[in-house]
Order: sequence, then C-alpha cells, then structure tokens
Amino acid sequence: MASITVHCPRCNSGRVYRHGKTPAGHVRYRCPTCPHVFQLTYTYEARKPGVKDKIVDMAFNGAGVRDTARVLKIGINTVLRAPKKLTPRQVTTEKVVLDDVALICELDEQWAYVGNKHPRHWLWYAFDTKRKRVVAYTFGPRNDETCRRLLSLLSPFQIGFITSDDWGSYARKLPSEIHLSGKIFTQRIERNNLTRRTRIKRLARKTICFSRSVELHKKVIGAFIARYHFN
Ligand SMILES: [Zn+2]
Repeated sequence: MASITVHCPRCNSGRVYRHGKTPAGHVRYRCPTCPHVFQLTYTYEARKPGVKDKIVDMAFNGAGVRDTARVLKIGINTVLRAPKKLTPRQVTTEKVVLDDVALICELDEQWAYVGNKHPRHWLWYAFDTKRKRVVAYTFGPRNDETCRRLLSLLSPFQIGFITSDDWGSYARKLPSEIHLSGKIFTQRIERNNLTRRTRIKRLARKTICFSRSVELHKKVIGAFIARYHFN
C-alpha cells in the first residue's frame, strides 16, 4: 500500500490531521501548530497553491489580463485582484550604489495610456549606466514637479554625472556642471524602455490591452522594476 505524508503549506509541519470534508467532497486537513486548515485538491483553479504568483509572472512576460485568465482557467476579476496586493519600493536598496563615488545615471520619461489617451501617463526613472539597473522611479505628469520628485529619490546616492534627453525640466532642475543632454547620451535607457514595452503587455504600443486603472498600472510596472532591477 502506498501512503503519502501531508505537510502543512504554511509551516511545513508533518503533524497534520484530517478535518472533515468540504461540501464539494474535498478532504480538509488541519495543522495544530500554526493553526491552519487547508485542502490538497480544490474545485476552483485560482485556489490552488502558486496560482497567484503565476498571475504576476504572466503579467511580467507579455500576457494581458485576458490571456492570463484563459491560460490559467480562472476569472478576469481574480487576475485583476492579484497585482493589487503588490507594494513595490520606488528606490533601490542596493548598498553598492551608495558606496560608488561616480555613479553615472541616465534619466528618462516613458509614456503610456491609462483609461484613455488624454492625458498620457508618464513613468520617470533613473538608470545606472554601468550596472544596467534602474535606481529609482516615479509616476506623474511630464512637468518640473515630477522631475523634482525623481531627483529627491536620488538624493541618497552620490551621482557623478547625469545624462538626459532635451526635455526642459532636466536643464531647469539639474546643475549644469553634472548634466549633459542629448539623445545620443540616452541610448541605454531608451533600450531599457523597449524591454519594458515588450515584457509588459499594458505598455505595448498600438494595443487594446492598455491599463484601465492608475492603481494597477503603477503597481504592475513598479513591481516589474523592483523584481528585475532592485534585487
Ligand atoms: Zn502549519
């Protein structure tokens, strides 16, 4: 006879007991250590362990909300609920950047639509040229105030040099001795913009898969940057 040991998914304890059945007939287990009641089989796909992580992974790999719902066989509202729980940081915690005396940063803004085409929604961010990492980001209109907010996020870092495109806010907010502007100096950050447009469906150009809510837009893009650049 074959037997399997059931472990608690929360605390990994092997000391679990049977705890009756669900109305749908699935066996329930109880862990007295945490305490936690759980099942090994579920009627609904979205309840299965790991599905919430898959929703976020698919959002970072070019799948739209409806693509995810079809592949994972779950509802659209479940797909929308998972990224709402994300709370990404806006600036890196990496110590190595703080120790670096001559950090070279490229700054840029990237547009996207949220809900409709007017006004456009802008992502502002700073890119560490040497390590090819995003250092900090913020969202806001394309004006001096958002530029100032991005620069205040950069204040803990020792920045040797900053390059940007010709957008006027940079020249007004940055001291001219550490600032260079021109499209030729922002090639790496422009390439990074393209990666995000490819990987996140809601940033793709000429699509109907753009964001409908500012909250989800900020959380998905912020979490993408935090996962691939801050750790
Ligand atoms: Zn447990």
